[in-house]
Amino acid sequence: MIPITDLSTQYKSIGGEIQKEVSKVLESGSYIMGKHVRQFEEDFAAYNGCKYAIGVANGTDALVISLMAAGIGKGDEVITTSFSFFATAEAISSVGAKPVFADIDTETYNIDPGDIKGKITSKTKAIVPVHIFGNPANMEKILNVASKHKLYVIEDACQAVGALYNGKRAGSIGNAGCFSFFPSKNLGCCGDGGAIITNDERTAVIAKALSSHGGGETGLRAYNLITGTNEKGSPDKYCNYLIGCNSRLDEIQAAILNIKLKYLDRWNEQRREKAYLYNSILKDYSVSIPKEETGSQPSYHIYTLRTRNRDIILKELRRQEIDARVYYSIPLHLQKGLEHLGYKKGDMKSAEKVIPYMISLPLYPELTAKEQNRIIKCLINTLT
Ligand SMILES: *Cc1c(COP(=O)(O)O)cnc(C)c1O
Repeated sequence: MIPITDLSTQYKSIGGEIQKEVSKVLESGSYIMGKHVRQFEEDFAAYNGCKYAIGVANGTDALVISLMAAGIGKGDEVITTSFSFFATAEAISSVGAKPVFADIDTETYNIDPGDIKGKITSKTKAIVPVHIFGNPANMEKILNVASKHKLYVIEDACQAVGALYNGKRAGSIGNAGCFSFFPSKNLGCCGDGGAIITNDERTAVIAKALSSHGGGETGLRAYNLITGTNEKGSPDKYCNYLIGCNSRLDEIQAAILNIKLKYLDRWNEQRREKAYLYNSILKDYSVSIPKEETGSQPSYHIYTLRTRNRDIILKELRRQEIDARVYYSIPLHLQKGLEHLGYKKGDMKSAEKVIPYMISLPLYPELTAKEQNRIIKCLINTLT
């Protein structure tokens, strides 16, 4: 089987380096909030051209904590795309706010900026664009709407680490950017991990405090920022100033990420080369190849086509040991877990129109030319 993504091949290439660093962490006896996390936060912020990065336990928590740090909760509405992984809407719901869905652009599959304006009410506090499949959303238009209505922009960049939009890294453009280091993401650790990036000191301090029970010195600083006071308090880590959560990046995961971050640009470049090879051949067939936003350089977390007879083609590829997949078969507004929001079929015409035709092909840096040629041949055979 040619897998949809291949983590073991990547591990073979850098396993020695990882084992050495992980051993050092194990021997150090320091497993939480130590020097590896500090190093990663520093390097990840610099990589993204941002002032601050805060390591957290996963990408979902990165979204939850960013929303909390923006003071978003019960009674607030947050506009997001109807086409994403469930966690985007789940995070908005879990802080007590109401996800309000906007339709998507049928070519980039990202939130349609033109559909945002009509969804804004007096309760709207933020927009959460998702750079779906690693393809940056039209941030220029999104930021325009946001600034007109004084809304926060929290980027769900979980699929877009390293992608560029007008020369800036995805996630560094809005008020805060959220990342997941789930193993299969472009920058993945060996377990769960995540991060928030921001240029805003207030957001950084509050997010850092919330990620660790709102305690200690950071908790006190966050408390003073939120209340506008200048409490001296105790720097004791068992003095807690905010109700946050326990969501930290582990030292072991940070040590692994420190190694992998050095390879990220090369890996993303290899993904792009393979995506463009797919494009160059498949453009002559009856499929819709992925479209990039002008001025953007996607990370190609997932390579997705649109084709007629999607389900037949999917079955045939799988029969030929090619792990093609469907990301994602159900738009967020029609997910059972969100039925209380009251959406129905037909509410997001564009998303509903294109989703049944989407199919994703194996794409990862280590995919060999031989494997890719086999995928292309099989696909072409099913198309003709
Ligand atoms: C992976 C992902 C998340 C969630 O990240 P976890 O680390 O799995 O919690 C959120 N949004 C998008 C778009 C994702 O792809």
